[in-house]
Amino acid sequence: MQQLSDHALPTATVSAPLALASTDVTLSVVVPLYNEELVIGAMYDRLTKALKGCVDSYEIVMVNDGSRDKTVQLALDICRKDKAVKLINFSRNFGHQIAITAGMDRTRGKCIVVIDADLQDPPEVIAEMLEKWRQGYHVVYGVRAHRKGESWFKKITAKMFYRLLRRMTAVQIPVDTGDFRLIDRRVLDQLYRMREQARFVRGMVSWVGFKQGEVQFVREERFAGETKYPFKKMLKFAIDGVLSFSQVPLKLASAFGLLAAGVSFLAMVYGLVQKAFYPETVVPGWASTFSAVLFLGGVQLICLGILGEYVGRIYEEVKRRPLYVVQDEVNFE
Ligand code: UDP
Ligand code: MG
Repeated sequence: MQQLSDHALPTATVSAPLALASTDVTLSVVVPLYNEELVIGAMYDRLTKALKGCVDSYEIVMVNDGSRDKTVQLALDICRKDKAVKLINFSRNFGHQIAITAGMDRTRGKCIVVIDADLQDPPEVIAEMLEKWRQGYHVVYGVRAHRKGESWFKKITAKMFYRLLRRMTAVQIPVDTGDFRLIDRRVLDQLYRMREQARFVRGMVSWVGFKQGEVQFVREERFAGETKYPFKKMLKFAIDGVLSFSQVPLKLASAFGLLAAGVSFLAMVYGLVQKAFYPETVVPGWASTFSAVLFLGGVQLICLGILGEYVGRIYEEVKRRPLYVVQDEVNFE
């Protein structure tokens, strides 16, 4: 048994994908964990039970994303009892999408399923996904037919976001799906090649293509604990999604510019007509000047901001840093 120590193991900065992994396991399940001490036990029990009922061989790859509670200790206890459970322990919190990526990098299964730890994605649905996979689908995503126990704000913003995103991108990203999905090894091998920093995994899976199918499910209430996606993180996630898959915001900047130019041209015509035909009504129009200047200033700042968002992401990409840093790995050969 490897021990978790304060010092990183020699393999600490591994982040190169383990491409062409041997595939003697049928299914790998990736579970990202961030401060999930309240759910990890129940999740392991229910997931294991569901897997035993539908597949001959499986592994569970847990990724501890820098939790500050007892998640690691509990995960280690599980790994000690059950060698089918593996653990990747990050050196700090890198975020949900990166945690999923690390899990995918180390899986060996012929297909994999990504699932949230909080049991919002029912493990029993995996059996249906496997059924579709056996029918020849390469990606089987879970469509949230109904969401229980989430705030109306989250439901409405999520609904709007997926529909807006769909209109803005050329890649067909299915609406109302999360990362709860089955992915075939062939698709995974392509995902390995996409090492971008700003990761919107559900979009990247769609980008790869192959035969994609769906299963409907009811998204349950979180089993225990609180959401690890507060508004700020959700917003960043949404912006990453849009900017990684669309240049519409940049085109919007030009549209703003054209609009402003059009408005100022109309104002010019209006001024000239007024001067020519009604010279007595011409008063020093400070209000119109003032608002025109403000308007243009606003448009310019918005456009600069949009540019800045893209430039900032280019900066993150050109640094070519590894996506994550692993502190320890448990139960990997
Ligand atoms: N998560 C993570 N790192 C983070 C935030 C979340 O690994 O920085 C994990 C979390 O433990 C859970 C999954 O991502 O397994 C989804 O998070 P959560 O259920 O809090 O999001 P929600 O369902 O509320 O959108
Ligand atoms: Mg959740």
